[in-house]
Amino acid sequence: MLIENPGSAPEVVRPAIRALRKARWSPSRRVPIDADLRALEEDGYRVFPAAVDFLRNFSGLFVDVRRPYGHDEIIFSAAEACAGISWGLAAEYTEQAGVAVVPVGEAFSRHMTVFLGEDGRWFGGYDQVLVEFGTDVFEFIENATGDKGMSVPYKGSGVRSSRRAWVKKLVTVIDAGRGDAAFVSCPTCSKYRLEIRYVGFPETRKAYLLFWCDACLRGIQLSRVWAPEGFRVWPIGDPASVADVPDFKHAVR
Ligand SMILES: [Zn+2]
Repeated sequence: MLIENPGSAPEVVRPAIRALRKARWSPSRRVPIDADLRALEEDGYRVFPAAVDFLRNFSGLFVDVRRPYGHDEIIFSAAEACAGISWGLAAEYTEQAGVAVVPVGEAFSRHMTVFLGEDGRWFGGYDQVLVEFGTDVFEFIENATGDKGMSVPYKGSGVRSSRRAWVKKLVTVIDAGRGDAAFVSCPTCSKYRLEIRYVGFPETRKAYLLFWCDACLRGIQLSRVWAPEGFRVWPIGDPASVADVPDFKHAVR
């Protein structure tokens, strides 16, 4: 039987829509995207029609995200995403995803670049690793937020020394919001000797990140991130900020 008066039924709204409405999104929203298209072109991305449609509707939105360590947000903007990527090239991401991808935003204190694939899949990019995050923007937002945290999309590479394994540990460390990494084992040697350090600007909390193991001297580095609340930011101009950081080897793919 059809409900004749749907207006009287309580409205059930999925979490992503709720978050987007708070950010003043609507399906009919349209914004100019000249700056986005220029940035994508300069960085060598092939912009497909679905990306143009998405950006016209979503570019410029800041979506509030509840994280264990406090406030965070997802930023939709190809121009911002392009400016934030200090590693890799369009061709590398396309090769990893298996389809053309376009950066359309940033998330997770800007540790993660958000990519839209030509086949409609969504990806998070961390330290040159692309991870699937769903098949539409709503799935992406829900997978990237909420109680499950960022660790959900990782299906476990099984390769202990891979960059992906390191990123997974990093996500755990940041999600916990303790300000240190001592409670997590090293993905390469299994010892509890991990160190995390943000080096940057303590006022703005913009920084680069060093994450390494003091036992086996492996690790990863991320550029241009925001240090989450609870993590100390060591001043970038001070040699003492990195004087005790060992010369560690970056984990390979
Ligand atoms: Zn180790």
